[in-house]
Amino acid sequence: MRCLVFVLIVSFASSLVIAAEADKTLDIYWIDVEGGASTLLVTPMGESVLIDSGNPGHRDPERIVRVATHEAGLKKIDHLITTHYHGDHYGGAALLATLLPVGKVYDNGSFDGMPNKPSREYLSFECDSRQVINPGDSLPVKEQANGPQVTIRCIGTRQQFVEPSSATPLNEAICASCAPRDRDGSDNANSIVSVISFGDFRFFDGGDLTWNQEIKLVCPHDLIGPVDVYQVTHHGLDTSNNPVVLHTINPSVAIMNNGDQKGCLPEVFANLKGTPSIQRIFQVHKNLRPDGTVNNVEDKYIANHGSAAECEGHFIHLKVASDSLSYQISIPANHVVETFSTRQK
Ligand SMILES: [Zn+2]
Repeated sequence: MRCLVFVLIVSFASSLVIAAEADKTLDIYWIDVEGGASTLLVTPMGESVLIDSGNPGHRDPERIVRVATHEAGLKKIDHLITTHYHGDHYGGAALLATLLPVGKVYDNGSFDGMPNKPSREYLSFECDSRQVINPGDSLPVKEQANGPQVTIRCIGTRQQFVEPSSATPLNEAICASCAPRDRDGSDNANSIVSVISFGDFRFFDGGDLTWNQEIKLVCPHDLIGPVDVYQVTHHGLDTSNNPVVLHTINPSVAIMNNGDQKGCLPEVFANLKGTPSIQRIFQVHKNLRPDGTVNNVEDKYIANHGSAAECEGHFIHLKVASDSLSYQISIPANHVVETFSTRQK
């Protein structure tokens, strides 16, 4: 009898271990901020990293809190990255900090030639600390004892990029075909560019980086490397999303944080569709502009279908398996779940 009890205890304990391992996922949520940006990461150790905080006003901070607390079970935003100083990226931060504690804030600080300045509220909201981020910096997220590690690395910001190493591949064939465009003088060009990895899984978030800066990411050296998931830069506007980036990093999935009237432009849509590696495109919103009928994916891969005024703000959720070898993308509102294999890098 004692032996049976022992066996039961051991098998119960090992099933707890298996359950705990299965919980050690990397989760990413694209929160609907109506054509702004707000991407929430939760590491296997339960730490949270929010990249951008949507627009000013109550709507976007409240949506962030709803996903962070109800879906992700968070009590705090441990790290907040503000990619650049446009209201659709930093505007929700100050109010968010009154609803949920914010730990460390990473942004571009104040710098020479700064084209746009953040609000006084942004510069003074309560948080644990603030740090100016530089190319090559990684966020100090906790490591797990077993299993793949998460890294969140800034590979470029304020139009400066990481130096290539001797192992960084040259990209001459693709670069020969690329031409610069009219310069974007706004703060978009200064966006913080992040690459998030979890084992073999890699995710690219370029904020609103613009065309000529995107070239520097992959020409003459590929500073990004292959990725699985591409957050469509700048909400799908055609001043960004240079195809030389897409054809260098070859993502499997593209996720566009467009609004009902913003982003999702035909040229970007055509470039995404013309990137052979892309198996699926997800949209946070249906493009409802009168000219937008041809550039939407199937309804089930779009989280929100109505106009911004009547929008419920549904999110997209990505979960990378604890072994990092596969990932699942779901739109709970549509009962859609798809599984993808992580590319071997
Ligand atoms: Zn933006």
